[in-house]
Amino acid sequence: MAQQPSPAPSHRHGELVLEKVRKVFRVPGCPACVALDDCSLVVERGKLTVLVGPSGCGKSTLANIAAGYDRPDSGRVLIDGQPVTGSGRDRIMVFQETALWPWMTVLHNATFGPTVLGEMSRAEAEAKALALLEKVGLKDFKDKYPAQLSGGMQRRAELCRALVMDPKVMILDEPFRGLDVMTRELMQEYLLKLFRETGLTMLFITSEIEEALFLADRILIMTTLPGTIKKVVEVDLPRPRDFKVLATERYRRLKQEVMEALYEEGAKLFAQLEGAEDLLGSCAPGE
Ligand code: ADP
Ligand code: MG
Repeated sequence: MAQQPSPAPSHRHGELVLEKVRKVFRVPGCPACVALDDCSLVVERGKLTVLVGPSGCGKSTLANIAAGYDRPDSGRVLIDGQPVTGSGRDRIMVFQETALWPWMTVLHNATFGPTVLGEMSRAEAEAKALALLEKVGLKDFKDKYPAQLSGGMQRRAELCRALVMDPKVMILDEPFRGLDVMTRELMQEYLLKLFRETGLTMLFITSEIEEALFLADRILIMTTLPGTIKKVVEVDLPRPRDFKVLATERYRRLKQEVMEALYEEGAKLFAQLEGAEDLLGSCAPGE
């Protein structure tokens, strides 16, 4: 069984639930695009749940709705049983592109949010930020500006900036896309460390099977458009995980299971595209 993290008491909350969510994009002159339909899922408290699906299947749409940045046409989003009706500081999303403020130092980037919102004193925010920066090996870089950091360091600083806000749920939408393999592996290890030490509820989105297996307690596999949850795979690999887990029979079998489900969706998408008269956009026919 997966070894559970010991969550800090403040993080013994943060269950995220989507109930029958539907989202249709309507663009004039295009067929309506049903991005999500009857999409339900549960991200349990203190668990690292990974959402995996082919490109264009509705992952970012789901992330935006879960974070309250966008509204579903029907269905509900709940955090700890309470409906989510807009964006709030109890959730946060880290985008794939780094978005540190270039004119602020790393430390200032990390402390700006909570201090400007009046949630913490400067001293409190700095103490928290420094503790987080230390965990990801950036304490000595606290006075540098983003342009003085490598891509991986910027990503780590961004994670710290998000975590200082003490979110109940962290949603990471392909945060490591575009990083080279070595940096990406390092980032995955840092993320697992932060997860272990904060006990935070995380929804991590990726299209990479290996990344999903290395990180997850549970993998949710999405269908192609319209996006919904096709399959749930419990990843009972022991924690803490390192590269040795990749050589185990259990890992191999889990990978096979996830690959089969994803390839089936990939094949469907291919058939849809071949059959489509109009290849403009990846809109699902329908409505
Ligand atoms: P993913 O993140 O899995 O790659 P997205 O959620 O970004 O997929 O997109 C799902 C589908 O919804 C795609 O077909 C995309 O073209 C469409 N879509 C996403 N956002 C919009 C939008 N703002 N307007 C119109 N169509 C959109
Ligand atoms: Mg996306």
